[in-house]
Amino acid sequence: MNSDYDIIIVGGGPAGLAAAIYSSRRSLKTLVVAKSIGGQAAYAPEIENYPGIEKISGGEISAKFYAQATKFGTQFKSEEIISLSKSKDKVFHLKTNRNEYRSKAVILAFGKTPRDLDVPGEQELKGHGVSYCATCDALFFKDKTVAVVGGGNSAIESAILLAKTSKSVYLIHRRSEFTAEKVLLDEINTNKKITLITDSVVSKINGNQVVTSIDIKNIRDGKVQNLVLNGIFIEVGFVVNAEFVKKLVKLDSKSQIEIDPLNKTKTEGLYAAGDVTDVRYKQIIIAAGEGAKAALSAYDYLMTSSGKTGVYSAKY
Ligand SMILES: Cc1cc2nc3c(=O)[nH]c(=O)nc-3n(C[C@H](O)[C@H](O)[C@H](O)COP(=O)(O)OP(=O)(O)OC[C@H]3O[C@@H](n4cnc5c(N)ncnc54)[C@H](O)[C@@H]3O)c2cc1C
Repeated sequence: MNSDYDIIIVGGGPAGLAAAIYSSRRSLKTLVVAKSIGGQAAYAPEIENYPGIEKISGGEISAKFYAQATKFGTQFKSEEIISLSKSKDKVFHLKTNRNEYRSKAVILAFGKTPRDLDVPGEQELKGHGVSYCATCDALFFKDKTVAVVGGGNSAIESAILLAKTSKSVYLIHRRSEFTAEKVLLDEINTNKKITLITDSVVSKINGNQVVTSIDIKNIRDGKVQNLVLNGIFIEVGFVVNAEFVKKLVKLDSKSQIEIDPLNKTKTEGLYAAGDVTDVRYKQIIIAAGEGAKAALSAYDYLMTSSGKTGVYSAKY
């Protein structure tokens, strides 16, 4: 088997970084290829449910995971995987937007990606007033007017966060009622900086270099209104983009990767962990635990396939 790495991990969120810590601590040559470090966890303003840490921001916990993986020798590449295949000699071939890598085992931990609104202007103005992360970008809109689109907890938390620094915030939801927790609803109903716009959808984002306004359409009477503003935060959920691996794994109806209790996919040597999988609960502690499990399973596979005994003596 002629490869560059023992294990390549796709994704730098809690699952990928925990897998990297376990893999590199076992002296496996480990590479993490990730579009960003932290993944969704980096969007969380305050994490209060990670054992042993009372309160921490998503950015801080991600930096700690990253530092720990680096300390044990994990290498990192800030690239996007665009294809994955396995050759007859059992080597995995990964192509990114810039390079090609080979490894003996792969852990898929590419989580979820914010869902697009899919309206004119969105793609062109991404990063120029169109954002998917209030925690990351709120301060760019200090004393400015912004909109948040969505009706769940994430949208409402973002509106509350933005209201702390922005001049005013429109919260736009396509239904008449929000689905968020009561404590959050109470807060938006009393926050004078937040204006609720219900039964409405964004039909267009306007601007040449940066966002200057949006068009919103009332779904009851069809009337279109133009709102002058500087930024729009899209909080309409997350999707799994698993198209590039679909030949090597089984996907469920939500495009999540099906795994067994040892994090194995249908392809030998290919593992998956975290939000990208069909494991039901999506939390940092769970993603991290699944990442650790996937790394140990991959370690056992590599030991067994090179004629050594894996620590957990799993059968492959
Ligand atoms: C706003 C918000 C608040 C949250 N708050 C909490 C909380 O308080 N407590 C809690 O436990 N959980 C919270 N969660 C959930 C938690 O963040 C996720 O369950 C967790 O981050 C999942 O980790 P993951 O590693 O599986 O995936 P992700 O965090 O989604 O990470 C995916 C990684 O893969 C990378 N990637 C994607 N595609 C590719 C590709 N093709 N090539 C290379 N890299 C790729 C991404 O850049 C990223 O590094 C929150 C989530 C959000 C969105």
